[in-house]
Amino acid sequence: MGRLSREETARLIKEMSGKIVITTHKSPDGDAVGSCLGWLNFLKKLGKEVKAVMSEKVPYFFDFLPDVESVEVAESIESADWLIITDTSEFERTGLKSINAKSVLIIDHHITASPSEEFYYLIEPEISSTCELSYFVMKLINEELIDKSVAMPIYTGILTDTGCFRYSNTSPETHSVASELLKKGVEPYFVSSNLFERNRVSKFKLLEYVLGTLEMWFEGKVASVVVYKEFLKKANASPEESEGFVNYPRSIEGVEVAVLFREIDRGWKISLRSKGKVDVSQIAKELGGGGHKMASGYEVRTSLSSAKRQLKEIL
Ligand code: 5GP
Ligand code: MN
Repeated sequence: MGRLSREETARLIKEMSGKIVITTHKSPDGDAVGSCLGWLNFLKKLGKEVKAVMSEKVPYFFDFLPDVESVEVAESIESADWLIITDTSEFERTGLKSINAKSVLIIDHHITASPSEEFYYLIEPEISSTCELSYFVMKLINEELIDKSVAMPIYTGILTDTGCFRYSNTSPETHSVASELLKKGVEPYFVSSNLFERNRVSKFKLLEYVLGTLEMWFEGKVASVVVYKEFLKKANASPEESEGFVNYPRSIEGVEVAVLFREIDRGWKISLRSKGKVDVSQIAKELGGGGHKMASGYEVRTSLSSAKRQLKEIL
């Protein structure tokens, strides 16, 4: 148990026997869904008994991915010989109430990850995405098994976590991996049009309300917006439709940190984005969350005004 190299992870996965369950974090993004589905399809081809379980339904904009319908939605994992958790290192972030697994392997890329030493873990904070990391491990196991049903979800996770190859986590290797994935049959326009050109009018209604909450703090260095539950109702939108809204305040000239407050059942979910000068992973960590230097998040159980005050103090 403990930290593994890519090679050790490949060996461990090859030797896994019994029932394997794959899961990821709640509010699954492209990297979470992509890594789960990529591993699901890859491990099936490797001859393993495997299924994917998530605490929430996969958002509709990922419905084009191969075998997405086979992901089970459940409150807990009853029994597994192996549990593979992707794109997070924390049990609580899976959203599952209870997990009963003999052994656990974590594959993640968050700089704030601090997994229990009772688990096996492969964590590389420098890599673009859990999907890119997963691809390298799959290649070490058996490259021939990476067909289109594996390549497409893996490509999706890389695309979404790098902001379509725009963010600073995009490396020369990221582009090489993307090139290899295209050679395995991924059609980039098919993926990006499914992801980004199927917005609903409800999303635009929601965006209209949310942009109306824009506040500029610290002489324009910080910009914040709010998604109230009431907005979702008025716009007839689902919470996942606010995905990416934090990019609007970030895109403002002079802004160094963008903040999105999302009202959740018991408090607020906060997304932080940086343009590079501020390490927002440290801020989120201090407040009980985590993430990356340029993108992080946390939750609070307080009122919105307290959440704003607390964040302003740290900023
Ligand atoms: P987002 O703002 O898109 O929800 O998340 C941005 C990044 O921060 C992602 O890499 C995500 O995994 C991480 N993150 C968001 N919320 C939390 C949280 O509550 N806890 C931790 N540990 N990480 C989070
Ligand atoms: Mn990720």
